[in-house]
Amino acid sequence: MYATLILYSFIVAYVTGCYWYTMLIFYFVEYIAFYLWHWQAHHRLWWIPFNEGCSKKHKEHHWEIYPPNDFYGTRKRQTDEMNSPRSNVDPLPISWSDYMRHKTWVSDHEGLLILQTFIQLIVARLVFHCFYSTIVCAFLGFMIMGFIGNWLHHAYHVEDHWLERFKWYHELRALHYIHHLGTAKHNYGVLNMTLDRFLGSFTFTGTKTNKKHQSQDKRQ
Ligand SMILES: [Zn+2]
Ligand SMILES: [Zn+2]
Ligand SMILES: [Zn+2]
Repeated sequence: MYATLILYSFIVAYVTGCYWYTMLIFYFVEYIAFYLWHWQAHHRLWWIPFNEGCSKKHKEHHWEIYPPNDFYGTRKRQTDEMNSPRSNVDPLPISWSDYMRHKTWVSDHEGLLILQTFIQLIVARLVFHCFYSTIVCAFLGFMIMGFIGNWLHHAYHVEDHWLERFKWYHELRALHYIHHLGTAKHNYGVLNMTLDRFLGSFTFTGTKTNKKHQSQDKRQ
């Protein structure tokens, strides 16, 4: 991952005339922003914009769709299927208000992260006088990272995903699994766990609890 990042940084430096490490700085600042965003998503703090909708939506992800004892969300899907009558199999059309509610919830969930990103880009322009072309490249990089992160997170929650053939994927998914266990106070990173290691929110010991969960499930 870092090799790609450094390569991207060099290309952007060559094209836009910024320093070779400018994109790396952008990356680390955005990574810190993401870490803080995920942390606040697990807390109710009235003074943080979007926090109410974000923590609500994030709670849904953690305790309803993928609860600690059901990482792949199979139970939720089964009950959803049982609750929806056969004639209603076609999911479309959804009502307009439902669509709008979902839309606003999505922006609530990621709203703060987008805000943080824009503040970062504005500060880069006003304080550090970065070129506009550099800032556009940074924004492009964020979009790519966001897309990969989102996609990877969804893959974590899919059983037998084709990415399972890679060792790094197993590691990251296990760490996200631990994030879903218990109090969700560990492993806030999705792509990168460096900050978790650094700030002491990193743990790998949850695997013991995982096994306990599994054996409990079998007994039931
Ligand atoms: Zn979380
Ligand atoms: Zn989430
Ligand atoms: Zn998750």
